[in-house]
Amino acid sequence: MKWSALLDAMADLAWGGCCAACGQPGPVCCRTCADSVRGLVPRRVDAGNGVTPIWARGDYTDELRALILACKERQGLGLVPLLGDLVEGSVAAVVHDRWRRGPVMLVPIPSSRATVAARGFDLTWLLARRAASRLGRLGLDIQARRDLTLASGSRDQVGLGVEDRASNRRGGIEALPSQPAQIVLLDDIVTTGATLAAAVDALESVGHRLLGAGVIAATPRLDGRPRAVR
Ligand SMILES: [Zn+2]
Repeated sequence: MKWSALLDAMADLAWGGCCAACGQPGPVCCRTCADSVRGLVPRRVDAGNGVTPIWARGDYTDELRALILACKERQGLGLVPLLGDLVEGSVAAVVHDRWRRGPVMLVPIPSSRATVAARGFDLTWLLARRAASRLGRLGLDIQARRDLTLASGSRDQVGLGVEDRASNRRGGIEALPSQPAQIVLLDDIVTTGATLAAAVDALESVGHRLLGAGVIAATPRLDGRPRAVR
């Protein structure tokens, strides 16, 4: 049995075999919904703090939101390949926009140990490894590397408001010792940009150079204004 078919079979057992986005009986994501999200063209988004170029496949609404939630909150390992394809497009857009030469490190925003344990897998690390492997096959010198860790005492961002997010992450994310590199950050969702800003601060403080960040989805701005799109 192919790996993807096995994951679909596991999802069927867990969820009764329906599309995580539209609820139609069938695979973990039906062809229509998969085609819909794969058709989203990466675009540059403005998180409001201008910290680094951020590219996303779309807004954190509709099918994208349903698929990410299913993957994160319902142990949806079977959705990792699809979400990996999506974030890979955003990472490729960063590279196309900013990269000129030399090796690239793809660094995931870390999750807490508790989150990884509850979920059963480390989502951003899986996404980063998959994207690096696939982009590497296209000829880019790129590797996934865990250069970031959560400082003890910081909490996951889930459920926190805007101010809590900023204070939680300010100094709450640390760069591990590693060779200075040019880095693309990877995350599933960008909300306020506070996490990415803290990650950029941490990485730049130890000599890395940031090209930008690739994410799957960007939450619509909290003030209701549309995000700037280049
Ligand atoms: Zn569907």
